[in-house]
Amino acid sequence: MFKKEYVSFLCCPDCRASLSIKDKQFTCSICKNEYPLIGSIPVLVSSSMAKDVKLSREKWDAEYKKTVDKDKARSLKKNFKNIYLSSTMSYIEKLFDSYKNKKYLEIGCGPFFIGQEIATKGAFVVGIDYSMNALKLAKFYLDEEGIDNYLLVCGDIAKMPFKDNVFDILYGGGVIEHFKDTVGVVKENHRVLKKGGVAFNSVPKLNLGSLTYRQMWGNIPSAPVLKQIAEFVHIKILKGKRMIYGYEYSFTDSQLRKIFAKAGFRRENIDVGRYEVPLLLEYIKNKSARKIAMAVAQSNLFWPATYILSRK
Ligand SMILES: [Zn+2]
Repeated sequence: MFKKEYVSFLCCPDCRASLSIKDKQFTCSICKNEYPLIGSIPVLVSSSMAKDVKLSREKWDAEYKKTVDKDKARSLKKNFKNIYLSSTMSYIEKLFDSYKNKKYLEIGCGPFFIGQEIATKGAFVVGIDYSMNALKLAKFYLDEEGIDNYLLVCGDIAKMPFKDNVFDILYGGGVIEHFKDTVGVVKENHRVLKKGGVAFNSVPKLNLGSLTYRQMWGNIPSAPVLKQIAEFVHIKILKGKRMIYGYEYSFTDSQLRKIFAKAGFRRENIDVGRYEVPLLLEYIKNKSARKIAMAVAQSNLFWPATYILSRK
């Protein structure tokens, strides 16, 4: 349910002014733009959304339509819980001693799996995604779990409809690399965080793995390690939603430090490191081949993911 008090931390995505709500309609106090409330979801999408964002939004929306089936949705969540939940949570849950009364934001939230976990720890959780179908899927899960301390917002993370200094924690799992203007997106991360607030993002690592697999993708199926890593990045970390859509950058650690510093985080408050996630490589049936592939993938030359922990 949308509560009126939520309006206090929302704003116009175009001019960042306060909004008022009347008859399921938000109105900006300055530019007078109007935005709808659809069900319980405010649709606060800027009228000047970048072309590339617009296009990938349409594609994602179509993609998420496929998981509307309830059984499919349940098995997607079960799979995530069994394999990936604990590794991601091991990073997120140690950021604060207590999550009571904290405000958590998940950017590009998709099914919002991490948000649901944080909600059960007492935080108020907000998920933003530009795909309405993704948000409907997230709502399905939240309702099934009986969670009500949440808000889902349809919006563009490059122009977030949130006021400055709102959130204690921000999480983006494989999201910021999909925007042409990475610094711009990270600036938005910085802006909406409270002073002392923490952003945790993960992105594909730029190394031999990413340099090679893109050229081999589809052509050389006999390169199991590279193929596995590519599939791992696209299907598991990016939850299968980014495979052929829009931009996808990979970064070196020093590039990331520069981007986050440029976006407003102080250098001493930026920590970049290897993002430890389960690597299954289950496609490789031969046991000894898998063992070798595992060993190669463990090497930093091939490891697929990096985390960036940044404090405002
Ligand atoms: Zn406005």
